[in-house]
Amino acid sequence: MLLIPCPWCGPRPENEFHHAGQAHIARPEDPAAVDDATWAEYLYLRTNPKGAHAERWRHSHGCGRFFNSVRDTVTDRIASTTRPNA
Ligand SMILES: [Zn+2]
Repeated sequence: MLLIPCPWCGPRPENEFHHAGQAHIARPEDPAAVDDATWAEYLYLRTNPKGAHAERWRHSHGCGRFFNSVRDTVTDRIASTTRPNA
């Protein structure tokens, strides 16, 4: 079982967490001002790298907080976890 280090609670088993997608996706400041292609890109297009990937996770069965991580998609090894806005 994968141990994920929550920035607040420390290492916990993976079944306490939910994956929340790619990290650092910026919402357009004025959604009504962007065209459909830009809005669709914001909603649906994500990277799918082989290797290091910035992700969001939620410690849903612990503190309930969201945090960012860098996980290697090949080995599942988590290089780092950080609090949002850190
Ligand atoms: Zn936690």
